[in-house]
Parts: sequence; C-alpha cells; structure tokens
Amino acid sequence: MPLAEARFRTLAEAVRCDVDYPPFDRSVMDGYAVRAEDVRGAPVALEVVGELAAGTVSNRALRTGEAMQINTGAPLPDGADAVVRVEDTEADGAGGRVVIRKAVERGTFITRRAEYVRAGDVVLAAGSVLGPAQVGAAAAAGASRVTVYRQPQVAILSTGDELVEIDRRPEGGQIRNSNQHLLAALVRSAHAEAALLGTVGDDRVALRERIERGLSADVLCITGGASVGPLDLVPDVLRECGVTFHFQKMKIKPGRPIHFATGPSGGLVFALPGNPVSAFVGFELLVGPALAAVEGRPNNRPGLLRATLRGNIAATRDRRTYVPARGCVDGGGLLAEPVLWRGSGDPFGLAGANAMIMRPPGAAAVASGGEVSILLLGRI
Ligand code: AMP
Ligand code: MG
Repeated sequence: MPLAEARFRTLAEAVRCDVDYPPFDRSVMDGYAVRAEDVRGAPVALEVVGELAAGTVSNRALRTGEAMQINTGAPLPDGADAVVRVEDTEADGAGGRVVIRKAVERGTFITRRAEYVRAGDVVLAAGSVLGPAQVGAAAAAGASRVTVYRQPQVAILSTGDELVEIDRRPEGGQIRNSNQHLLAALVRSAHAEAALLGTVGDDRVALRERIERGLSADVLCITGGASVGPLDLVPDVLRECGVTFHFQKMKIKPGRPIHFATGPSGGLVFALPGNPVSAFVGFELLVGPALAAVEGRPNNRPGLLRATLRGNIAATRDRRTYVPARGCVDGGGLLAEPVLWRGSGDPFGLAGANAMIMRPPGAAAVASGGEVSILLLGRI
C-alpha cells in the first residue's frame, strides 16, 4: 500500500534503502569547505571561490589556498576534506577572502556518503510497526509503497437482556451497552479493525446465530454471559458452535471468567466478563497482545515498571490483582496512585487511569511510599 496510508500498519517485508544515505559527502554546518592541511596554521586567510547551497553541486574542485562557502546539507566539493563553522571564521574586509580562525581535522563537520546506510541495507525489519519515526525512515529509504500485513478483523458482540444502546435512557433494570464502544476503541487503538455485531439478549438461538457470524472474523470478542449463572449462556453456545477451549478462567481480579478458544475456521475467540473494568483488563492482558501476534508483530507493551505508591492498597487474596491507577513521573521517579473506583462495574473511575498496579496473589497491603509494579496502558 502507499506509505502515506500505512501509518500504524505492520511491515510484512523489510524496507531497504534504495540509495546510499546520505547519497553524497555533505556538510553538517553552515561555514566554509576547506582543506584541513591549509588551515593547520590558523588563523589563515583563504580565497573564497564559490558558494554552495543545498541541492547544488560545485562545478570545480577546491584547490590549495581556497575555501568555498557551504551551507548545511550541501555536497562537499572535490578537494575539500573539512568544514569550518561560520562562527570560527571572519569575513576579510578586502572581500573575496575569509579568515579561518581555527584549525580543523580532516572530516570535521562532514557526513560521508553512505555513512548511515548503504544502498540495499535493511532500515526497517519485517514486523516493525509504522509509527511516525518509522514512516519517516521508510520515506527516506524511498519506500513510497510498503508491504504490510492485513489488519486483523475483530468482531465485537455484547450479550445481555438488560443492554440498551447508548443514546437511550436506561429504564427498569436496563444498562447502556458501553462495552461495545469500549471494545471498539480498544481494538482500534490496537490498530485492528472493529466489526460491530451489536447486542444480543440472553437467548440460546439468537446467541448462536450471532456467534456463528462472529466466528468468521479473525478474532471474536464477546462480553457478558461468560460466568456461571443460569443465563450465562456464552460458554455453552460457543461449545455448540464447535470451538476448542484453551482455558475458561484466569486467576485474576477483576475478571475471573475469561474464555479463550479457537473457532472451527481458526479464528481466535475471547469471551470476557460484562463488567466494564473486567472486560478492559481482559482485553489489555489477552486480546491486545493476541492481536499483535496475529498481525505478525511482537507485543510492544512495556513490561512491568517499578513505581512508588502514593496512597494505600489492600492485601491480595488468591488472585493476581489489577488496580487501575494513575502513573506519573515525579522528580525522576515513577509514582503510581490508585484511581478512585468502586469496583469492576464502575466505568468512570477507570477513565482516570493510565496504568494498572499489578499485585501478585497473597501480597501484603502496601502503604504510601512503598514499591509496586505497574503496567502502563496503551501500546504502539
Ligand atoms: P455478566 O458478565 O453478563 O454477568 O454481566 C456483569 C455485569 O456487567 C452486569 O452488571 C451487566 O449488566 C454488566 N454488563 C454486561 N454487559 C455490558 C455491556 N455491554 N456494557 C455495560 N455493562 C455491561
Ligand atoms: Mg449477563
């Protein structure tokens, strides 16, 4: 695809530079191109025999006793082997001459042809994500078109009789289907494509029809109905649809009922709890990294970082526990403060978090000033 459209796509083939880079010996500074030998006894006056702007090539070589005014990025003339910064020179009143006040070594303020890369060198490996810096590098390498992986298509399905669309006012036991939007945003932030399958009630037949549709996507992500209540039909219906379960719960908090399966045509299936914070944590821990793997890129998530706790957190029981938190850099160190949230059904506390404090099972309470491990949210 055109590079101009490939932002955040993943390279399926390495990008090689098609030219030496830089393509010619060039000046790093505004100043004068000289022969180092001529200025060894600085101060010394040289005759100025030309002006070299970026984009122009001198039509003659520099001879002994001569200098050429040169700008940053201009090709060095033949015969010259160093550049003296303009700050280390003085215009000679007599005109046509410059006084070089400082001796320079050969090669000073010059970037040699191919000093960064040679024509044919790989500048971006397959599997690289085309973030802004990588787009710039591909552009410099002349890759106006790049070969990228297809983005995984993620079907998103919300289940629950109580769900209503977000433009409705919930009445009589209803709750807004916020997960559909949460998951679509998470999927797009993971640089995948979201296909919205809408809402389906807790009804076997309807659920089966909708899940079957979702199973043709690369990844199917379901929320709600994943637990062990009488109306938690998702695991059963998934089994009826012929999926192979790899695991059906995780010892984490929030979000114990998390199912991971492979569909009959090879797509991945994640069934996450309905509570928004549980769904969020499940996505961050599993679906995001899976999407990276499906798309052929390593999981670029930074690992756990050590941070100083601001505030207090309780001891954990038998599950690995994730606490939404706000991380910030303060005085050179990383601080983490739990956000105010009232449990996994509270989508609003989560909105203040940019990290999760991760606590192993059986961990003691931590008081302000203690050390904790945090996982920064978001990835490239
Ligand atoms: P469940 O996982 O189906 O037992 O649902 C757990 C809780 O999450 C219940 O309070 C549900 O109402 C709520 N919930 C389920 N699905 C959604 C959704 N799509 N958006 C917001 N809340 C939800
Ligand atoms: Mg439910």
